[in-house]
Amino acid sequence: MRFPAPLVTLIRELGRLPGIGPKSAQRLAFHLFNRPTADVEALAQALLDAKHGLDRCPVCFHVKSKDAPLCAVCEDPRRDAALVCVVEQPADVLAIERSGAYQGRYHVLHGVLSPMHGVGPDELTLDALWARLDGIEEVVLATSTTVEGEATAMYLARTLHERGVRTSRI
Ligand code: ZN
Repeated sequence: MRFPAPLVTLIRELGRLPGIGPKSAQRLAFHLFNRPTADVEALAQALLDAKHGLDRCPVCFHVKSKDAPLCAVCEDPRRDAALVCVVEQPADVLAIERSGAYQGRYHVLHGVLSPMHGVGPDELTLDALWARLDGIEEVVLATSTTVEGEATAMYLARTLHERGVRTSRI
């Protein structure tokens, strides 16, 4: 049986999301089809609003509201500016914030070093990290424990030591 074209398109687009395989994409598509029109419109609007209303913080590259100059962490004067935690993705910031124990600031790499996938230092936000080292005493390396995450942490530790900044690994 051939699916109608709009259904094929919807399944294809949903299937491009991370963690969504073809079966999940199909299940989500039929779920959306069965929802009231107002619910689907609210979801579509939320997607567009998020895409148009959000931006990267120019200091730490975490997510920020488009009409704010900085993200909520960089904007908060109570956060320790001498302590910076390096993470791979904005979701990692949220995970650390949930613990409530960390009082420093962040730097979001938006990836990890991966020679296999053509990701070198220039593809990450490293230049911006080196540019903000003035006044930073310690950098916490919170990249993942994958091979690439570990290699990225080692690269960062080496480069930061050369620049006289203390590092720790979590
Ligand atoms: Zn920020």
